[in-house]
Amino acid sequence: MYRSHTCGELRASHIGTEVSLSGWAAKSRDKGFVVWIDLRDRYGLTQLVFDEERSTPELLALARTISRETVIQVKGSVIERASKNDNIATGTIEVLVSELTVLNNAKLPPFTIEDDTDGGEDIRMKYRYLDIRRNPIKNNLIFRHKVAMEVRKYLSDQNFIEVETPYLIKSTPEGARDFLVPSRMNEGQFYALPQSPQTFKQLLMVGGMDKYFQIVKCFRDEDLRADRQPEFTQIDCEMAFVEQEDILNIFEGLTRHLLKEINGVNVAEFPRITYDEAMAKYGNDKPDIRFGMEFGELNAVAQHKDFGVFNSAELVVGIAVPGAANYTRKEIDKLIDWVKRPQVGAKGMVYVKCNEDGTYKSSVDKFYDQEDLAKWATATGAQKGDLICVLSGETNKTRAQLSALRMEMAERLGLRKADEFAPLWVIDFPLLELDEETNTYHAMHHPFTSPKPGQIELLDEQPGAVKANAYDLVLNGNEIGGGSIRIHDKETQAIMFKHLGFTPEEAKEQFGFLMDAFQYGAPPHGGIAFGLDRLVAILGGKETIRDFIAFPKNNSGRDVMIDAPATIDNEQLSELHIKLDL
Ligand code: ASP
Repeated sequence: MYRSHTCGELRASHIGTEVSLSGWAAKSRDKGFVVWIDLRDRYGLTQLVFDEERSTPELLALARTISRETVIQVKGSVIERASKNDNIATGTIEVLVSELTVLNNAKLPPFTIEDDTDGGEDIRMKYRYLDIRRNPIKNNLIFRHKVAMEVRKYLSDQNFIEVETPYLIKSTPEGARDFLVPSRMNEGQFYALPQSPQTFKQLLMVGGMDKYFQIVKCFRDEDLRADRQPEFTQIDCEMAFVEQEDILNIFEGLTRHLLKEINGVNVAEFPRITYDEAMAKYGNDKPDIRFGMEFGELNAVAQHKDFGVFNSAELVVGIAVPGAANYTRKEIDKLIDWVKRPQVGAKGMVYVKCNEDGTYKSSVDKFYDQEDLAKWATATGAQKGDLICVLSGETNKTRAQLSALRMEMAERLGLRKADEFAPLWVIDFPLLELDEETNTYHAMHHPFTSPKPGQIELLDEQPGAVKANAYDLVLNGNEIGGGSIRIHDKETQAIMFKHLGFTPEEAKEQFGFLMDAFQYGAPPHGGIAFGLDRLVAILGGKETIRDFIAFPKNNSGRDVMIDAPATIDNEQLSELHIKLDL
């Protein structure tokens, strides 16, 4: 038996007990007549002690040879510590070792395995297995496990069944590039890895499974934006005989369950806002509503004066930044530089200081009097002491720029608190989205999303105006889940494919199996998928998903530990009938 207890288990009540422990030598201290070793495993640290009085000279000598991260087993008795350590759970005891066995030696690790390590991100990724020994990463993985277990518990209690769907499939409809896998047995043919199990979960509904979920890997070959992974995990769900309302209720319930069980937070009913409202109020379809600073549209009060910039703008819109009226000229100039950065892209910014004495001081005093500016304050909800920041230009761009400024100001003011949770539903998304480069419409969610009842007729005339039965669950400025009520009849699906620019042949080739299935009695159905990595990170109060993934990829999609992707040898290539053309 390697161990009778774990390294996190022994307490004062064990004093006098003979125990055996196994783990890694985290640290040792040699005071000459006494040697201490901190023994570490997943559960904690236990101090081992060897001394001249009570240990044999051989044992003491062996203890002195134990270097960091050596795997050892000890036997000994639990004794009271002379100087107690309140910082660790086992801090009142130590183990007086009578037998020490080296189970495996360890090279000196390339960084210290401590909470505050000296290792940079790159080296820690290369030696991720060592990084996982550190509490911050280890605890994140345990945290993720707890979230996943609670998800399974809640959904299983609601009668959902976890069903696995295949990974070697063909192109899926989520709009990213596929990862492809050549088939050796079917020359010249390729599988695609699923971007999501979307079509399979719909087929499970046709198969009568009624309530499905799966915690599942999805693969999307996208250019990696910050904190994205080419393979990521979804909590994927689908239900039959449901309307949007049923889905929102069940998954609001799931989110509430997680916030309660994991974070001990009770949240009231989630607010719901439409996509149009979200864009108008926050310039963003995943608004962070932990703080206000809602947009105030100023066209009515700021146009038709002599200020040409505003008069020619499609939208004039502002936010009131709380307590920022005391910004100095220099600070405001810096802020203007910030909005002009290429990442934000504004041409400039107009500001109004709402002074404590009720007067206003603006950068456009030449064009607007106090009465005008008071109207701006009303429109943006500005109070005395606030700074109104105003941007103008083309509607979508201006909203995006002001949204970036809103988030930046919230960050600076400390309003994005990691332990505060503000979920909401964003509903009534547009069905289609215009790709400005190609001037064609794409499915905003995916091609199986149903239009709102009665709107399908609009598809020809005003494709951009058609709303979908599609919803996103947003938490603290992140989309943590999204889904839709699906099309479940072949005719509507064919109309959708046509509008998305598929010829009937292409639609048949890519999704014929689903259209076929719809002829055999497809129930009305809908679903949702949550991004588990992001959800776990947010519940854990952190920003980066990488910290919650055991073996993540870097920003170039590489696993630097196993050095993948990698070239393959000619024999393998020829088995697959592949010639490289680099
Ligand atoms: N398959 C969708 C996605 O991955 C989610 C859904 O519609 O259920 O975003």
